[in-house]
Amino acid sequence: MRKKIVAGNWKMHKNLEEGVQLASEVINMAKDELNTNINLVLASPFIHLVSLQKLIPNGQTMISLAAQNCHHEIQGAFTGEVSAAMLASIPVGYCIVGHSERREYMHETDAQIATKMALLLAQNITPIFCCGEPLSIRQNNEHLTYISQQLQNALFQFSANDVSKIVIAYEPIWAIGTGLTANAAQAQEMHAHIRSNLAKQYNDEIAQSISILYGGSCKPENAAELFACADVDGGLIGGASLKSRDFINIAKSF
Ligand code: PEP
Repeated sequence: MRKKIVAGNWKMHKNLEEGVQLASEVINMAKDELNTNINLVLASPFIHLVSLQKLIPNGQTMISLAAQNCHHEIQGAFTGEVSAAMLASIPVGYCIVGHSERREYMHETDAQIATKMALLLAQNITPIFCCGEPLSIRQNNEHLTYISQQLQNALFQFSANDVSKIVIAYEPIWAIGTGLTANAAQAQEMHAHIRSNLAKQYNDEIAQSISILYGGSCKPENAAELFACADVDGGLIGGASLKSRDFINIAKSF
């Protein structure tokens, strides 16, 4: 059984007080309303993580924390950066890697993204590896080969054992923050494609075990349709994760 995961990417939103408030609401609603087989992940800004960690009741496994990034070096003179080992010392369970905003604005390369994932795995932190095509690629009907290439470049150097510890998020760039969502058929086509690439590179058992999340304007109104797809195992949620009620309603859409 693959893990069902709904991860909220808060991006650069919420001051500390607002972040604690949002997380508290999510934790309380989750306790009362969610099935225990759903895994909620809160990817807050770095500065919130220690405070949020204190809010999560001891021993509960439904809610985990995530960072939105880490650096691709182990440590050193990298002003303003945060290492995988620092994240492990909080601790966090997950870290988003290779989000399209970081690929675009911070010029992150596939090689750096692969290194980050290796450092995270060494710290027992689950990378949430993001892939996704720009609009022009989709319009030229080259989206399947584009994603295959992203997987090849950043993921397929990992051993079968390591890759099985990674979560993949398919986030078409044209759907992020735009209000445009991939429809269920588009999402299912790509998720099945990613899974078949994993089966070819590794084997079917590994391909079937990896959770693949959809991200891009996912909201309470469209989550059920997306999550009903055979190869969609949950969502990476941006804008709608900033409202506790919307985020929980998305998590209730399985
Ligand atoms: C994201 O940036 O990961 C994302 C999915 O954003 P949104 O839900 O706002 O499109």
